[in-house]
Amino acid sequence: MAERMVVVGGDAAGMAAASQARRRRDRDDLEIVTFERGHFTSYSACGIPFWIGGVVPERDQLIARDPATFRDEFDIDVRLRHEVTAIDLDRREVVARDLEGGGEVRAGFDTLVYATGARPIQPDWSRAGVAGVFGMQTLDDGTALLDWLEREPRPRRAVVVGGGYIGVEMAEALLHHGLSVDLVEQADQPMSTVDPDMGELVAEAMRGTGIGIRAGLTVTGLEERDGRIAAVVTGEGPIPADVVVLGLGVRPNTALGEAAGLPVGPSGAIRVDRRMRVPGVPGVWAAGDCVESLHRVSGMPVHIPLGTHANKQGRVAGINIGGGYATFPGVIGTAVTKVCDLEVGRTGLRERDATAAGFEFVTVLAESTNRAGYYPGARPMTVKLIAERPSGRLLGAQIVGWSEAAKRIDALAVALWNHMTVDEMTALDLGYAPPYAPVWDPVLIAARKAVDALTHSGR
Ligand SMILES: Cc1cc2nc3c(=O)[nH]c(=O)nc-3n(C[C@H](O)[C@H](O)[C@H](O)COP(=O)(O)OP(=O)(O)OC[C@H]3O[C@@H](n4cnc5c(N)ncnc54)[C@H](O)[C@@H]3O)c2cc1C
Repeated sequence: MAERMVVVGGDAAGMAAASQARRRRDRDDLEIVTFERGHFTSYSACGIPFWIGGVVPERDQLIARDPATFRDEFDIDVRLRHEVTAIDLDRREVVARDLEGGGEVRAGFDTLVYATGARPIQPDWSRAGVAGVFGMQTLDDGTALLDWLEREPRPRRAVVVGGGYIGVEMAEALLHHGLSVDLVEQADQPMSTVDPDMGELVAEAMRGTGIGIRAGLTVTGLEERDGRIAAVVTGEGPIPADVVVLGLGVRPNTALGEAAGLPVGPSGAIRVDRRMRVPGVPGVWAAGDCVESLHRVSGMPVHIPLGTHANKQGRVAGINIGGGYATFPGVIGTAVTKVCDLEVGRTGLRERDATAAGFEFVTVLAESTNRAGYYPGARPMTVKLIAERPSGRLLGAQIVGWSEAAKRIDALAVALWNHMTVDEMTALDLGYAPPYAPVWDPVLIAARKAVDALTHSGR
């Protein structure tokens, strides 16, 4: 008789695991059932801001594979609108509620993949159900927001609460809709994933696009008029709003797993080993935004919820379940984003992370340009490096600039992943032609500057 693999959560991590397992084991050997409480499978949440902003015209372009494709091409049984409400590890079964048809389904499993993702942070004031206030995590959230933007009276003033990358991308999307946009952020700058000096560059560029940056301000409530959002309330008074988008970050979605006895690590996410097995719970695997990862620079367990990790981790789990061998080696915190034309990239540790991890280090900021200074379109680029003393090992890097800025972080990520020192990096053979870089690439200039800083510090 075929074994059964049950997957809880049908997006990036869950469906990557399911399809990889299927590639290695056919239907007679492994039955695969996925429970997904939403309306979609394998969709790109990452694309939502660009769909809202009109860069991607159709919602369905964000869906990589629908349930029919999984059924017909992969022989995976996807049960949409089914929410798993309990996992019984002793009886080896899950209980799922049919959110549309009503009733309960029980499914036994030999192998379980826990891939429930993350849940948005929702302070009490955001839970009042005020019309015109939107989270932004699912395609349904995006559909509801677009519907609101088209509805009469047309919203004119938007407030985005939270200045992480989702808030920043949503601020741009709303700007594209012709709204005036304020972004409220509790910290002193938006983009706290970079150091404050780099965050200030982002804030400055955002102000230049017309986005109002209200930093250092905490939202404490919402004001309603005629059943619609009218303002967000802050310590400095109300900010008028016809639409509010929340981007306050996420937490790992662990409640169901914890209730079943899955272990949670210091980061608050589900613990896994390198092969994405949940330690101490045979036959149970976990992947994606609900798990913690090893940070390869700090050595600490971290929760960094990104699609790039979810896909890789799901793939690793699926290969292993399929009888192959794969490991997930950890993360270094590489991420890129943009706001209008400004690009932001980061990898490794920020100053505060390096301090918390006990490193001694120097930091440098190198100002340069994205192209040869004489080439049309040359614009400023700032590269920040954090290098360990006295070794010179790269610990972290951040880039803010215009075109060709963000993806330069990949060269720095590879250097960091491979434990390169800034001394070694000064000689890297990076591509040069005037349309793409000055003769000394900004990365090389920054590395040279870091070597100088180390020398001046007495190493
Ligand atoms: C607006 C936005 C922009 C983003 N941009 C980027 C980006 O540019 N780059 C990047 O790397 N990442 C980005 N991300 C993050 C990325 O989308 C996530 O890291 C990725 O989707 C995580 O995949 P996952 O499968 O772990 O979790 P999810 O995609 O959250 O999938 C989990 C699924 O589990 C389902 N589920 C949960 N509980 C249950 C249950 N009890 N029963 C049944 N189903 C359940 C949920 O409905 C959900 O579909 C973005 C996210 C958002 C919201």
